[in-house]
Amino acid sequence: MASLTLENLTKTYPNGFHSVKNISLEIKDGEIVILQGPSGCGKSTILRMIGGLEDVTSGEIHLGSTLLNDVLPCDRPLAMLFQNYAMYPHLNVYENMALGLKLRNMPRNIIDSRVKSTADFLGIGKLLDKKNRSVSEADKQKVALGRAIVCKPKVMLVDEDFAHGNPGLRGDLLHYLQKINQEYHTTILYATRTPGESCGLGGKTVLLKSGEIENIIPA
Ligand code: ADP
Ligand code: MG
Repeated sequence: MASLTLENLTKTYPNGFHSVKNISLEIKDGEIVILQGPSGCGKSTILRMIGGLEDVTSGEIHLGSTLLNDVLPCDRPLAMLFQNYAMYPHLNVYENMALGLKLRNMPRNIIDSRVKSTADFLGIGKLLDKKNRSVSEADKQKVALGRAIVCKPKVMLVDEDFAHGNPGLRGDLLHYLQKINQEYHTTILYATRTPGESCGLGGKTVLLKSGEIENIIPA
């Protein structure tokens, strides 16, 4: 089970700024949750603490029965989709999607079947031989999604900037996130500053203000 539990999660930066204040939240296995609030309210800090890119000042993060606080970022069964796709333009789409699995020393046949089935699922099966730099922005976004999905993450952390502020791409992204959630039962945490933008996703919305939960709106 991959329910994600935040318990009194707090982040104080070294300059003394309290960015996240005592947040407690349970995100059930396979649930979609939208973190929504104005710029600076702590959304990215929460995602970064869950992903392990930022130390937790106090509080606990559990995934199922595992305390994540001290688990190295690379050992957390999570995918992080942030602003920068971190793609290798000189590699082809197949190689970009296979990267995470290669790093985990997966057998070649498993890498091959996962990359191909995922590419078909995302509608980029015909692009596998193309260099990443030569595919469209929309397809680059799918390659980034694909690279995350092939690792079968239990949770996907999606920050708003992942859609590059392009409304067209964002629509596609929401569509595919929903598909991923339905197909793989992946828990999804999506951060956005835009009210209503992600209502198509269908999850509950956690409203944040100044690092605190202001309200939770059911799906
Ligand atoms: P959001 O993603 O909701 O826009 P962030 O989580 O990025 O908000 O930031 C929350 C608050 O923490 C902001 O006020 C930001 O300026 C502050 N902050 C972020 N990183 C640091 C840091 N390294 N040092 C001090 N303050 C920071
Ligand atoms: Mg942010």
